[in-house]
Amino acid sequence: MNVIELDKQYIAGTYARFPVQLVSGKGSRVCDAAGKEYIDLGTGIAVNGFGIGDTDWKNAVIAQLDKIQHTSNLYYSEPCALLAKELCTRTGLKKVFFSNSGAEANECAIKAARKYGELKKGKEYYTIITLKNSFHGRTITTLSATGQDVFHEHFTPMTEGFVFAQANDIEDMRRLVKEHKCCGIMIELVQGEGGVTALDKDYVKGVAELAKQEDLLLVIDEVQTGNGRTGALYAFMDYGVTPDVVTTAKGLGGGLPIGATMLGEKAEGLFTAGLNGSTFGGNPVACAGALSILRRIDEKLLAEVREKSAYIFAELENAKGVKSVSGKGLMIGVDCEKDAGEVIAKCMEKGVLVIKAKQKVRLLPALNIPWTELKSAIKILKEVISE
Ligand SMILES: *Cc1c(COP(=O)(O)O)cnc(C)c1O
Repeated sequence: MNVIELDKQYIAGTYARFPVQLVSGKGSRVCDAAGKEYIDLGTGIAVNGFGIGDTDWKNAVIAQLDKIQHTSNLYYSEPCALLAKELCTRTGLKKVFFSNSGAEANECAIKAARKYGELKKGKEYYTIITLKNSFHGRTITTLSATGQDVFHEHFTPMTEGFVFAQANDIEDMRRLVKEHKCCGIMIELVQGEGGVTALDKDYVKGVAELAKQEDLLLVIDEVQTGNGRTGALYAFMDYGVTPDVVTTAKGLGGGLPIGATMLGEKAEGLFTAGLNGSTFGGNPVACAGALSILRRIDEKLLAEVREKSAYIFAELENAKGVKSVSGKGLMIGVDCEKDAGEVIAKCMEKGVLVIKAKQKVRLLPALNIPWTELKSAIKILKEVISE
């Protein structure tokens, strides 16, 4: 049996995969099993921020593998401590809890908010406001936090204690804060899975102010927007707000699984021994790789991200067959006159990998994609969209 047949026979049917088996690559070029080469504008859903087989990341991972691959959290570990320090000094947050995925990072943030509510106002203050059209993960509780009914089907009862506000409508947020006994607000600054739409700056500032006034924990889900993706190290830095909790995952690990929940002043003391944990969380190999990624996301690289973003917007806005372009940095949604699935398939045929978000074609190229590859890929995408 070939790989596709094996997969179909033995892997749970949760994924509608593209009919391609990726086997190798370098940077923003990736190869399938038949030897066909693609320019990758998907980066494994915003994970491979420095592309495939990035040399520095690989060296950091291999060096750590040569020392020790896993310790558990019963012992101290250097890569984990160094990564936490780097995250805190770069963001201004105070402490980090490490896990293995975005969903877990958000689970930890939800626990933090509930604990905060209990501490400050009482046990019944457990409701968290999230946004309609949000996406926070696939566990039952992060699905419950996800403001899209379609994700709740089949899995009821959901975890209680989540209500959903209309994005960019501060009055709706105020109303929900009044109507419910809340402990926190959790938002993505650019909704990724929801269709790559950035929140308004004034709205986000209003939400942050409201959270402060009402003593609610402000949680920013930067699982997708974090680690340079939007042109800032973390998107909140560009929005001019100070969150109490920031979660991240995807791009942090450079391709190995990791999740991080960063806790600010209001939240840093919430967890004491035994209140959360993870067998693999803070794995030394994943952390050593993540540290090499984070250290290279500097102002020079971020300026490059913003420049490439401006280029993509300029090329696609008003292009033939394009209805609108949304997003921020190198997290971009293209609403096309053609069906997105059709555009994706045609691009694949022509050697460009792009993905989908709702009805849009989603672009998540490597932060360091070379200009030549970016230009060739966008040229092909434009041709496909306009045909
Ligand atoms: C991908 C994503 C998640 C879930 O992350 P996993 O690593 O798949 O658990 C949560 N929130 C946002 C905003 C995401 O984009």
